[in-house]
Amino acid sequence: MALSKVTMGYNLVHIRKSVRQGILHLLRTAEKPIGEKIKVLYIAGAGRSGSTLVDNLLGQMDGFFAGGEIQHIWKRGILDNRLCGCGSPFWQCRTWTAIIQKGFGRVDKAEVLEWHQTKERLTRVRRIFFFLFRSKEHQYTELKPFLDILKSLYHAIAAETECRVIVDSSKSPLYLCLLRLIPTLDVYVIHLTRDPRAVGYSWLTPKPTRDPNAAPEMHRSNLYKSSLSWNTRNFLIELMIRKMPGRFVRVRYEDFINQPRHSLERILSVLNETPMKLPFVTDTSFQQSANHLVAGNPSRLDTKQIVEINEDVRWKKRMSTWDKFVVSILTFPMRLYYKY
Ligand SMILES: [Zn+2]
Repeated sequence: MALSKVTMGYNLVHIRKSVRQGILHLLRTAEKPIGEKIKVLYIAGAGRSGSTLVDNLLGQMDGFFAGGEIQHIWKRGILDNRLCGCGSPFWQCRTWTAIIQKGFGRVDKAEVLEWHQTKERLTRVRRIFFFLFRSKEHQYTELKPFLDILKSLYHAIAAETECRVIVDSSKSPLYLCLLRLIPTLDVYVIHLTRDPRAVGYSWLTPKPTRDPNAAPEMHRSNLYKSSLSWNTRNFLIELMIRKMPGRFVRVRYEDFINQPRHSLERILSVLNETPMKLPFVTDTSFQQSANHLVAGNPSRLDTKQIVEINEDVRWKKRMSTWDKFVVSILTFPMRLYYKY
């Protein structure tokens, strides 16, 4: 008798919990009317501009899912099984495996390799002429098969994580062109800029990937290449965001570091989002909980800790005067345009 009372009590608690979860699920689902577009907050910029930090901070807010550099999911995630931000290899991360299952069912690796190669081909710099000078209808018709694959991926992310906003720090302006063609995505852009000398120093400096399924160190680049890439990326992003009035915000990484709260409020205002709570512990720190950034800086692996938002100024002391001079010349005049 006593046992059955306990069992009944347990069942009642269990039923109450299930009902509560069901109601919560319905409420969450009700927030997104059928046919509503999925918001994608795209971080565009040169490599090594601090996008992983910004992505992670945004992802701590209710309703936001930080996906990392989603453009690399095919190769680094599905094919190479590299570490997700949660610390698990891609195929052991419950979030991403559920997303892939929802979007594609079983995936064929040969097909995924083809998708990766298509993405690489479509995001080469010379493709910018196609995106700039062909009509949107022509672009859509020509790229529809691949756009449908991307659409399945982003819709599966939104459905599985129940987020309102997907944060994507892929950075490439060409990949942004692809996302903008998908009619069911509502794309907003953070144009993240960083002092090209700091960027150049970061590309020169060895940095371990901390991932057994990747090369031991992150890719490195000389100052000429990184400066050229900095100019090209920022120039192409300028061209793109001119087509997106009211949908982009330019954020200097240095301002973001010095005034994170103010910068975050600017981003949220463009996005027209008002989360219940901003993720700060103090004005300059936030709690980095488990994240699922699929690719990006290895700092995404430092979860469950309070992150102090500090500017990395090592380059100011460690970079030679000559190297600073070379980068300053190579990135003129855009460097001055961004007040560096
Ligand atoms: Zn994960």
